[in-house]
Amino acid sequence: MSEEKLFPEGMEPLGKTPFTFSCHPGVSCFTICCRKVDLVLYPYDVLRLKRALGINSEEFMRKFSRVVNGDNPYFPTVMLSLTEDGKGDCPFLTTEGCSVYEHRPTDCRTYPLERALDRTPDRRGPNEFYFLTHHDYCKGHDENIETTARAYVRSQHLDQYNTYNELWTEIDTLFRTNPWAGEGAGGAGQQLAFMICYNIDGFRSFALERNILASFKLSKQVRRDIALHDEELMKFGFEWLKFLFTGKSSLIRK
Ligand code: SF4
Ligand code: SF4
Repeated sequence: MSEEKLFPEGMEPLGKTPFTFSCHPGVSCFTICCRKVDLVLYPYDVLRLKRALGINSEEFMRKFSRVVNGDNPYFPTVMLSLTEDGKGDCPFLTTEGCSVYEHRPTDCRTYPLERALDRTPDRRGPNEFYFLTHHDYCKGHDENIETTARAYVRSQHLDQYNTYNELWTEIDTLFRTNPWAGEGAGGAGQQLAFMICYNIDGFRSFALERNILASFKLSKQVRRDIALHDEELMKFGFEWLKFLFTGKSSLIRK
């Protein structure tokens, strides 16, 4: 399958084509894109932000997120909630810029690129494509700094985010099959799924109380990693969701 057939007309993946872009405090539009922003938060974004802020995931979700009906008819979308002072700024915006810069969410990091994955079965693994967006208000395009999609992704430390977001995409795809059919939205299955995806600290307590890991064959190292790292617990949670709702998972029952 040729790349041209994969995308709607007019959307050309960048490939190795260079483009000019730079965002820094000296641009005239500095922080304009952090106001009245529609920002989707993915599970890994929440994990990074709550840790950066030194709060637990439940508190983060209560203070900084809102849950809306998005493009998945069977699972809600989580958005960043904006300040309610009439300006609608990102709550992490300060006069100096982004106060959580090292931990800023995926969409902030990826801009001005957009990423698409090709999961056609004849390919060995997901192939990623980047597209260049161009908003009139963004003057970063006028900066004379040449880069490529690959170099930009590296400079924004996006690879780690992309890795976890790909795991999330798989789970989101599962949720689109309405695995809680009959139970309805907001039923026990969907609430469990929401906790695993967006309240990792709640899931840690839940898994401990019910001794969930004890049901599966896991090496000592994996158990240790899950105990120490939210990322590993999130990966376990995703596999557990696959196990519960499809029976197909890397987890093996004892
Ligand atoms: S998280 Fe940071 S970069 Fe993203 S919108 Fe908020 S202030 Fe801007
Ligand atoms: S609008 Fe563009 S150049 Fe301006 S701050 Fe946002 S990303 Fe940077």
